[in-house]
Amino acid sequence: MRAFDYLRAQTEGEALAAAGQDGAAFIAGGTDLMPLWKAGVAAPGLLIDIGRLPLAEVTARDGGLVFGATARLADIADHPEVRRRHPAIAQAIEASASGQVRNMATLGGALLQRTRCVYFRSGITPCEKLEPGSGCAAVAGENRLHAIFGGGPSCVATHASDLAVALVALDAQVRLRSLAGERVLPLTALYLPAGESPARETVLVPGEMIVAVEVPDAGGRSLYLKIRDRASFEFAVVSVAVALEVADGRVQSVRLAAGGVGTMPWRLRASEAALTGAEAGEAVFRAAAGLAADGAQPLAHNGFKIELLKRTVLRALVQAGDQT
Ligand code: SF4
Repeated sequence: MRAFDYLRAQTEGEALAAAGQDGAAFIAGGTDLMPLWKAGVAAPGLLIDIGRLPLAEVTARDGGLVFGATARLADIADHPEVRRRHPAIAQAIEASASGQVRNMATLGGALLQRTRCVYFRSGITPCEKLEPGSGCAAVAGENRLHAIFGGGPSCVATHASDLAVALVALDAQVRLRSLAGERVLPLTALYLPAGESPARETVLVPGEMIVAVEVPDAGGRSLYLKIRDRASFEFAVVSVAVALEVADGRVQSVRLAAGGVGTMPWRLRASEAALTGAEAGEAVFRAAAGLAADGAQPLAHNGFKIELLKRTVLRALVQAGDQT
């Protein structure tokens, strides 16, 4: 193992000052970084432990919820106001990993977790994320679990986070901070499509960190559905988060996001457009679900995701519609 330095940050300013150094990496829960490190895929030169910074609060305010970057996933899912206002968040977390992992994993780590692409995690096959210019082993290799949206010849890896999908459907915003100041972005704007810049996955710049995520209150119901190869401790083959508001029998607002299909959490805009203002009911839901794969570019082994995505969207809409 390569030698590294360790800094237990006592203040946010100390963490941010150190974060601009080459090879610096933040750690809090460590549930993604440590396996990557053991596999030789990650090798930080400076580990900045932010686990003791006061960023772990889950706060319910008038108008929305605020989660600190180091809030544990289990604490978010267990919060009664999360479960009441945005059940999709708790459902997405409870469908993730294992109880032990959720007790350690943090919000920031969940949003920035690296892809589960087996070639990337092996560290021994060509991978544009690990070595730009080396090529992508998945494009012509085993790609059953890879992306049908947002990829390209340089990378087709899916984004792994369940929670990010639910938060995108809920119009969450992410608060970023560096020594230069603070900025707030829609969560969708945090991610870069892997097909364009495989080695650069987010808009975060060196020395910048996530400090919080804010989720606005909304009418209606939210729901997260996950389809996977086994019932627990497994990543999504396809997942769908829906936030649906129906009044007087019509869809007032709807947001749909999908996981397991895109190189980043993927909004299903064509389906949303077909639903907005329409009469709520299975016929309309079915027609909208039929548009869910608009623009998809399946690979040799993952064409099945198109039909699976449509069916998952339909199921999510019907279930959410029944609850509104
Ligand atoms: Fe690497 Fe992306 Fe290709 Fe996987 S899909 S091998 S992460 S470049």
